[in-house]
Amino acid sequence: MAQQILNFIDGMFREPRDGIWIDDVNPATEEVIAGIPDSDSADIDDAVLAAKRAFPAWAATPAAERSRLLLRLADAIEKNLDELARLESIDSGKTLSLARRLDIPRAVANFRFFATAILHDASEAHVTDNAALNYTLRQPLGVVGLISPWNLPLYLLSWKIAPAIAAGNTCVAKPSELTPLTANRLAELSLEAGIPPGVINIVHGLGAKAGRALTRHDDVAAISFTGGTVTGAGVAANAAPRFKKLSLELGGKNPNIIFADADLDDAIATSVRSSFWNQGEICLCGSRIFVERSIHDTFVERFGAAARTLRVGDPLDDLTDLGALISAEHLQKVTRYIELAKEEGGAVVAGGRQVDRKGFFVEPTIITGLGTGCRVLQEEIFGPVVTVTPFDDEAEAIRFANSTRYGLSATIWTRDLQRAHRVAAVIDSGTVWINCWLLRDLRVPFGGMKESGVGREGGFESLRFFTEAKNVCVRL
Ligand code: NDP
Repeated sequence: MAQQILNFIDGMFREPRDGIWIDDVNPATEEVIAGIPDSDSADIDDAVLAAKRAFPAWAATPAAERSRLLLRLADAIEKNLDELARLESIDSGKTLSLARRLDIPRAVANFRFFATAILHDASEAHVTDNAALNYTLRQPLGVVGLISPWNLPLYLLSWKIAPAIAAGNTCVAKPSELTPLTANRLAELSLEAGIPPGVINIVHGLGAKAGRALTRHDDVAAISFTGGTVTGAGVAANAAPRFKKLSLELGGKNPNIIFADADLDDAIATSVRSSFWNQGEICLCGSRIFVERSIHDTFVERFGAAARTLRVGDPLDDLTDLGALISAEHLQKVTRYIELAKEEGGAVVAGGRQVDRKGFFVEPTIITGLGTGCRVLQEEIFGPVVTVTPFDDEAEAIRFANSTRYGLSATIWTRDLQRAHRVAAVIDSGTVWINCWLLRDLRVPFGGMKESGVGREGGFESLRFFTEAKNVCVRL
């Protein structure tokens, strides 16, 4: 029988109040692997109340003690890395090897990073001539709502929970209903680690129901949301009139710009990863590749050959490069975009088909011959589908890169460092990688420009988001 996942409220596992359950499906086998609560506003009310009750004691807990407990949670995740990686793989379709290498180690790192960051945090003081001394208190907000997507389930959930509770808040998290398994295991591990009841609450269910109730709850002081741009707009519409602090990490359509003087071996090897890792289901994937015309054909030939060697199949097999897409609905969306690319006049030079087996698999797909105005270059596909477009000079590369409503990340490949800095400065994006991709330092600000988001997380930016700055002015 499939496992029954429960909500985690006030340190206890509870059934949803309405008694309704949703199937959790393994995207690689289409089997139902768990039933999860279809929670509603009553469950959210319970969780918020528990978080509210836990807040005063947790906020007053010395930073060194909060740090110790978060470090214990990090250790517990690390100790269970193999099990968590397996859960992540069967829940999301991602390869077990990627979950082992990327997702779970990063969840450990998130807890360690914020557990120790709070020990080094300092607030400012401003002396006003001989008249006054101002100092800044950074106080936790209270109960915060954390909403995360399915593509990097534990990685992104821990990216929110860790700074939120490290800063002294208590939280109610709503993971994606498509990937509840590692969130559920995290709840169990938080008990083992000794995190007090009510500090972390996890409510499973649909975004439009449980998620919406969380964003509209009057006792929730802030919402940190990662997900699609359209959903993000809805979250903002619900949260803004209630004057909640809001952080939105949204979609991307990221440019990967390759100049003729680049180290082509490196650019191709990295572009294979930045296009197809996690089946292209990473918000930071470089889905629009722009290549200087003199090397365009060589690039397409070599990049296409590399993509054709990738193995699509059983996510649990260590030899597999691409696992399954998250759902039947998402598979349909991705394959529709491949059809649209053909209708828009594009040529499929690699992949292009759904894989003929049970589960939601698509070949790594490369499309050429489309202009930057095409829908396939404008809309987020969030699958293993990239376009390659030639450009003639630096100005055109910049124009192409900036031609969407998104602005999350960009990659530039060149040996000319002056050009690299020059282009980086004018690209509309929150992160620019030069001659690398997904090299992440947890201290740096992370977030998007334009419709890719509002606000920054990462390092002290996260701690600032999860605290209220209060100025205290003392007359001298
Ligand atoms: P969605 O926007 O569909 O969902 C994100 C989360 O929001 C889920 O937990 C979802 O629940 C919930 N949700 C849905 N509707 C509402 C609502 N009305 N109120 C409150 N919460 C709601 O995104 P996906 O899960 O499909 O994730 C993919 C998207 O996430 C892509 O666009 C990707 O670019 C983006 N993303 C951005 C990142 C960044 O850092 N900028 C990082 C990773 C992904 P449910 O699943 O149950 O519907």
